Amino acid sequence: MKTLNIGDISVNKILDGVERFPAVNAFPEINTELFEQHKDWMHSFYDFNSQMLILSMHSYLIQTPSLNILIDTCIGNDKNRVGQGPIYKSNQGILSHWNNRSSNYLENLEAYELTLEDIDIVMCTHMHADHVGWNTRLVDDRWVPTFPNAKYLFSPLELDSLQKDSRNPFDQYLRLVYEDSVLPIIQSGQAEMIDESTDLGKDINLIKSPGHSPGHYCIELNSKKVNAMLTGDILHNPIQVTCPSMSTMFCDNPDQSNQTRIKLVDELTDSNTIVLAAHFADTSAGVIESTNNSRMFKLI
Ligand SMILES: [Zn+2]
Repeated sequence: MKTLNIGDISVNKILDGVERFPAVNAFPEINTELFEQHKDWMHSFYDFNSQMLILSMHSYLIQTPSLNILIDTCIGNDKNRVGQGPIYKSNQGILSHWNNRSSNYLENLEAYELTLEDIDIVMCTHMHADHVGWNTRLVDDRWVPTFPNAKYLFSPLELDSLQKDSRNPFDQYLRLVYEDSVLPIIQSGQAEMIDESTDLGKDINLIKSPGHSPGHYCIELNSKKVNAMLTGDILHNPIQVTCPSMSTMFCDNPDQSNQTRIKLVDELTDSNTIVLAAHFADTSAGVIESTNNSRMFKLI
């Protein structure tokens, strides 16, 4: 993705990696014919040979005149993700790639001439394993905050949910996520609880968007009449703009997730709002446009 300028705000994508995941596992209700019907614009997001979704794992670096803000911290390096229990087993295909991995994420960030000390705010749209990983890094066998001067903004609902799940004796996978990527931030005193009124600076708004997870937030940028929406995991693949009532197996509350997605996709369609999705591949940025009898995601 080239640098996007949203009025006074610039946005860049920091890549942690690209994953593939079987479409029929991600979307239990899907008929893969749906991808064929949208073949002309779907190539960047779906491998027609293997019937796999192509999922990008990246942060968005938002730079305002006074702040460097990182949205979502992806998977991270060196994490133990060999869990046990139902969540791990049902996602094993993808989670096994996340174990003890090594990506160039920090180099990709530093390419923007930023040091780790320069990040002022870290915000995770939600607290799943692929959105909190680079909150921390391993230094001398200890998990330490990757960004030593940053405030880390956490949704209390989201934190509460992860803490409860991490105590589930039948599924140690979420305990690992909590202990290596969230607890060290609380212990360092860098965690701050947020709500919709939290001020991330002029022209940046938090939008409650529950369903994929209980305390999920989207982030709206609106500067000098240019709009963008960071949609987090409300959308995993652009096929959902054609069929917004289709949740993934990763959604905590599929019905609520559908309601949130249907409303958001309706609002974004033909609005000229730039959509910055958490997992769309290629440039990841685009707009949702109506077509003769459906909708499409058009990369920019
Ligand atoms: Zn995700």
